[in-house]
Amino acid sequence: MQTHVHPLLPATPGTRRELISLHYGTGAPGQKIYIQASLHADEVPAMLVAHHLRGLLGALEAAGRICGEVVLVPAANPIGLGQWLLRGYQGRFELASGENFNRHYADLAGEVLTAVGEQLGADGPANVALVRGALRTAVAALPAASELDSLRRTLLALAIDADAVLDLHCDGEAVLHLYSTPATWDQTEVLARCIGAEVALLAEHSGGEPFDEACSGVWTDLAARLRPDQPLPPACMAVTIELRGEADVRHDLAAQDAAGIVRFLVARGVVAPEPGQPLEAELPPLRCVPTPLAGSIPLKAPHGGMIVFLQAVGSTARQGDPLIDLIDPVSGQVTTLASPVDGLFFARDLRRFAVAGMTLGKVAGSQALRSGSLLSA
Ligand SMILES: [Zn+2]
Repeated sequence: MQTHVHPLLPATPGTRRELISLHYGTGAPGQKIYIQASLHADEVPAMLVAHHLRGLLGALEAAGRICGEVVLVPAANPIGLGQWLLRGYQGRFELASGENFNRHYADLAGEVLTAVGEQLGADGPANVALVRGALRTAVAALPAASELDSLRRTLLALAIDADAVLDLHCDGEAVLHLYSTPATWDQTEVLARCIGAEVALLAEHSGGEPFDEACSGVWTDLAARLRPDQPLPPACMAVTIELRGEADVRHDLAAQDAAGIVRFLVARGVVAPEPGQPLEAELPPLRCVPTPLAGSIPLKAPHGGMIVFLQAVGSTARQGDPLIDLIDPVSGQVTTLASPVDGLFFARDLRRFAVAGMTLGKVAGSQALRSGSLLSA
């Protein structure tokens, strides 16, 4: 394993933060897999899974079983981890700019098309190699005038030429779920089986330019702009994995999740199977059918008040089933929020007092009912 240190642009003189990446592999050619934990700094379940993964990957490397490269960033947001404020973390938004750490990642399709569009021919794998080279150049040329932008550029540079990108997050309270794109569902399905995802939300463009879509979307965007005689496969599968809720910080869960990720690496051929084991051991069953991200319906608070959840996270709901009582402690008004659709009540907020307009929970339905920006702020 090699440790790489990436200094970020200092925000002010006399300060310097750095990002650490761990690189596993035996030097054999093969796929590159990129895994990062806790881009929203204080989403601790992700860092604990990375902690368990580094032990597993170290042992696999020592056994000569890693074919290709696995890059692990065990704490992807040193800026957010420094935002301890009034006895609480502020890990989702940078305090200086108010920007979400998982938004505004660069769309590089235009730069790549200008650089190598005319060189792309009839050989798909050769096109992939050309595009990867152009992507590396384009990321290196991105402006980074702030500490936050230098973090974004550093993370993107580590991931942009990977065959698979796993971005580990968590929700407030939730079942294990993931976000990805329809173009790579055949690959993501393998991951969903291996980690036991209970919801898979797919969107071609969710809005907001999150990290995963910057890595995967560039391939489908480019392919749509090329001639028919210039084949370009979707060469990067990128997935945001929500490792349940913020308080689900447990060794048994993290060990299970890390083992699931290694199983995925074995299924992809990045990790050689245990000696004596068949190469294609049967995968676990899929625990969900993929649903559109546009079918994930938020339940919003119409007024402030106490939040009393009436159903556990992971409950199946029919449209109209009561899910939440919202209680104004001053007037005594009780508003019962019902499920807007048939689906799975897969995520709830961790807090128990709402301000008006706040999203209290989400139900994953099968119909794409929403449009526009599909991610929460
Ligand atoms: Zn997150």
